[in-house]
Amino acid sequence: MNPSIEQIAAQLQGYDPQALSADAVGEFLARLVAPVRGTEQVGVFDALGRVLARDLVSPISVPPHDNSAMDGFAFDGAQLAAGALPLQVVGTALAGKAWQGEVRPGQCVKIMTGAIMPAGLDTVVPQEFTKTLADGRIEVPAGLLQRGDNRRCKGEDLLEGRPALAAGERLGPAASGLVASLGIPRIEVVRRLRVAYFSTGDEILSLGEPAREGAVYDSNRYTVHGLLRRLGCEVIDLGVVRDEPALLEQAFRDAAGRADAIITSGGVSVGEADYTKAMMKKLGDVAFWKIAMRPGRPMAVGRIGDAVLFGLPGNPVAVMVTFLAFVRPALLRMMGARSSAPVYLSARSAEAMRKKPGRTEYQRGIVTRAADGGLEVRTTGNQGSGVLSSMVQANGLIVLHHGQGNVAAGEPVDVMMFEGAL
Ligand code: AMP
Ligand code: MG
Repeated sequence: MNPSIEQIAAQLQGYDPQALSADAVGEFLARLVAPVRGTEQVGVFDALGRVLARDLVSPISVPPHDNSAMDGFAFDGAQLAAGALPLQVVGTALAGKAWQGEVRPGQCVKIMTGAIMPAGLDTVVPQEFTKTLADGRIEVPAGLLQRGDNRRCKGEDLLEGRPALAAGERLGPAASGLVASLGIPRIEVVRRLRVAYFSTGDEILSLGEPAREGAVYDSNRYTVHGLLRRLGCEVIDLGVVRDEPALLEQAFRDAAGRADAIITSGGVSVGEADYTKAMMKKLGDVAFWKIAMRPGRPMAVGRIGDAVLFGLPGNPVAVMVTFLAFVRPALLRMMGARSSAPVYLSARSAEAMRKKPGRTEYQRGIVTRAADGGLEVRTTGNQGSGVLSSMVQANGLIVLHHGQGNVAAGEPVDVMMFEGAL
């Protein structure tokens, strides 16, 4: 059984829905959401961005044989001594073909990169370091090599019978290649997460509607859609829902029936006159929070039917920030991904920043490399929670943590980089 909001709240020390720290939000959500069940088999190309459902054990060793890392000459490294080593070339080992002949002391085999090391040979001298003597032998220069140099050992990348990738791995291009290197054409991944989204608010216009006084075009639907697509979720787009109880109820029920998670924007702040909050309360088990953060204070969280609900604020920057800080890690957990905590990079602030301890602030930042080679971050201009252009200009969010106070110019700050998420 899923725990109720009340049960989770009771487990958290000092839970105060009216002043929740960003850390407490993260802890709460980690208890609220659980990995979805259900897997599917996909081909390696289609596995990109998906989450591996079970440990993948290597059916073979990679590389499958000891082989040469260079074009050169393979020989028995036991012969290496203080002086130069002359060797007679008795054959050639090509990539993809084993060389079968016998090699005696004082002899070597010309070998190509990737070719199997002939039996008894363990060292390769790169071609460019050798010279050819008058009698046709090649010479390994003194002091250049140690036994075993320029040889790749069988299984040094992946060992037969050992886990190559662990369940919960989000498969990137490197993992795709690794799966393919094992000769595995299809793998089992967690099914796609289905996430329904709609915007609320009577002042919100859909694209195609004529502009009218007091109304704004719906941008949240597009930012959230993009953020969800980047996560590899299946997005169920329910558009803009007008502030009428019947329409809101229909949208929530529709979403809860089809999706693992529901995301809405707007209508969750204290002063809201509309029906969004009332409908969340009526249909689900929902907490309404004031988070000690900027931007993004209000947020509703809970469950409607079996779907997890994230009721985000309306302001466009607040939507993106609350998504990145809270919703994204929670969705990754639902997707079965192993590690979902954001990774921060440290950069020195190019400017002084005013900051009150007791809340987390997310400033839009531009990280660049300074003349001295260090990373430096400056804020984009207007930090208003409706200024979406600040998110476009930024390449990361400067995170000023809960307990942190004013920041002096030159002081290091944490930055959550957008790369991969935006
Ligand atoms: P609310 O949280 O509903 O009070 O909305 C806060 C602000 O965000 C208001 O200025 C809204 O007009 C704006 N807003 C709400 N929803 C959207 C949306 N989908 N796209 C753009 N702006 C929005
Ligand atoms: Mg509103």
